[in-house]
Amino acid sequence: MNLQPKTDNKQPGKVDLRDMSLSELSGWASSLSLESFRARQIFRWLWRSDVTSFDQMTDLQKELRQRLSELSYISSLRPEKIERSQDGTRKFLFALSDGNHIESVLIPEKGRYTLCLSSQAGCAMGCLFCLTGKGGFKRNLKTSEIVNQILAVQGALLPDEKLSRSSASGGLTNLVFMGMGEPLANYENLIKSLQILLADEGCGFSSRRVTVSTCGLVPQMDRLGKDITLNLAVSLHAPDNETRSFLMPINRTYPLEVLIDACRRFPLPQRRMITFEYLLIYGVNDAPEQAQALARLLKNVRAKINLIPFNAYPGSEFKQPPPEKILAFQQILVKNHYTTMIRQSKGADISAACGQLHAHAIYAN
Ligand code: SAH
Ligand code: SF4
Repeated sequence: MNLQPKTDNKQPGKVDLRDMSLSELSGWASSLSLESFRARQIFRWLWRSDVTSFDQMTDLQKELRQRLSELSYISSLRPEKIERSQDGTRKFLFALSDGNHIESVLIPEKGRYTLCLSSQAGCAMGCLFCLTGKGGFKRNLKTSEIVNQILAVQGALLPDEKLSRSSASGGLTNLVFMGMGEPLANYENLIKSLQILLADEGCGFSSRRVTVSTCGLVPQMDRLGKDITLNLAVSLHAPDNETRSFLMPINRTYPLEVLIDACRRFPLPQRRMITFEYLLIYGVNDAPEQAQALARLLKNVRAKINLIPFNAYPGSEFKQPPPEKILAFQQILVKNHYTTMIRQSKGADISAACGQLHAHAIYAN
């Protein structure tokens, strides 16, 4: 395990405490000969109290706070811009320390506050329908940049939004890795961020309420299943290799039969299912025969299906199917006994819907 995380060019020689899992922080603290309980104490301050300076860690002696501030720092993200959709969705734009930009989306629904997190600045996967993919890949997010999105959004919630919900997660109830980037392509930092946000001393989220979405990176799916328990969503979008390889280049490396095998062996707690996301694109993957083929493909997989009508953006070459085609597609899957929901993405009027995140395309220069 790396006990000496990389330092930030803005804080030369210092380590960012928000880049460390609890076990890394424990290793670092013991390398400084601190008592063993200190790491847990500092970790709680970092993630349960959202402190921004060592002076706020009131149960640490002054000398220790001084020593910590000489060796380390506490990074944070502050939103550069918050946009609010008519449906209540809020989009947060964050500037990273190197000038790259990312976005997170807060989706309030009955009894739930779901935060859609970014895992990379841009994305290298090149899916034909996705605006993030069209902008190309900038870089992986650091662990701190992933989890700090949560603290920043919690900090921007209104007081009554915070009070009405569990204090551990500060008002947010669900997390989905469906923002910018392919989370499993940033595996090490993703796992560390999951360890922090699932830890009781960390953000305290339940694994039932955290979902990682992937375009289908099979080796990392196998690793993920062994490393951690959470919900998995797979972006499928086509029931045959020809259509899927056209839409998603990753299918040429891990074709459907390989991907579906990986889904079958993915360890799921009792009664949980893998969510298959299926983008509906007019004239490409929305025919009744394709719904039948999808039903056959997912046979013997613990699957539920989310149908996402394509969200357009300026310059997009695809269209959403008409409502009757979407309903007919759903009916075929329901008849085949799949739980199938139509998910109208929220926040389309502020370009916050699935596939519309493009912070870098507008702001990076
Ligand atoms: N990279 C991961 C997670 C981020 S994308 C993945 O691909 O799963 C989140 C979801 O939005 C994916 O299912 C993706 O396929 C979908 N998506 C991308 N572009 C879209 C668009 N234009 N309209 C609707 N959904 C889109
Ligand atoms: Fe990347 Fe997901 Fe967009 Fe594909 S759909 S380009 S994997 S963010």
